[in-house]
Amino acid sequence: MLRIASKLFALSLLALVNTAQALTIFTCEPEWAALSEELAPGAKVFSATHVYQDPHYIEARPSLISKLAKADLVICSGAGLESGWLPALQKRAANRKVIDGADGMLYLSQYIKTIDQHETEFFSTKHVHPEGNPHFHLDPDRVLKLALVISQRLQRIDSDSQQLYQQAFEQWQKHWQKSMEQWQQQAMTLIGQPVVVQHTSFSYLIKWAGMDAIADLEPEPGVPPTMAHAQSLIDDARQEQPVAIITNWYQNDRAARWMSDKTGVKHLNLPATVDLKGDINNLQRLFDYLLIQLQEVQ
Ligand SMILES: [Zn+2]
Repeated sequence: MLRIASKLFALSLLALVNTAQALTIFTCEPEWAALSEELAPGAKVFSATHVYQDPHYIEARPSLISKLAKADLVICSGAGLESGWLPALQKRAANRKVIDGADGMLYLSQYIKTIDQHETEFFSTKHVHPEGNPHFHLDPDRVLKLALVISQRLQRIDSDSQQLYQQAFEQWQKHWQKSMEQWQQQAMTLIGQPVVVQHTSFSYLIKWAGMDAIADLEPEPGVPPTMAHAQSLIDDARQEQPVAIITNWYQNDRAARWMSDKTGVKHLNLPATVDLKGDINNLQRLFDYLLIQLQEVQ
């Protein structure tokens, strides 16, 4: 049903695409590419990373530089998520349209509040979330706000197609709000459920669903799990009986499998973002999938 609805949605938007020059959009993460495709019908959209990559660490490859050089708009999570590679790409691409401060460079973190912010002075240098947790695409409420931010930016930089973007946003919003009602119902069954995580990739969803992350296999964000740290969590895991140990598709899940063997708690390996080349290729489908997986594990 949802698939038919989204197909009709895409078709009706295609009808709106006029002869205006299509924008070239470069996104740092695949979730923003998927969202851009829905909010900017007809645009050429490219994502620098995919679901099997850790967005904190990628190589500034020449192919990415040439993509960035052609971009009219760049959309990234920000909050330090891309600080290890995006500045190098921007420098080498030398595209004035997408330098920091230009209308063509959109850091979404500037428009929402991140969770898990810490005082800088208490910070370890290894910590990869200097401005709070940047994985906010897993909060349906924040996505709703950010879709409007993206649409407004599209309308600003490509005012000839303003009506197209506005209508695309309105249709997307209607669909999203309807899905949110369904997700909220599903989340009711998850309230209070404890889980063990590896990195804070799913923190926004866990919080949104009212679940409880009782332990993190990473000693601190960005520091890979060690056996000593995993060992120290075993007693808690046995006592609090989490429903799952959650890892994501790009991670080494050795520590999670080890803990699962030791405690009998189920290991759940989930996509932390959309898979542009697979079935879970937009944020709606990602939330549908994640919530079903979390419900089934109980
Ligand atoms: Zn992170």
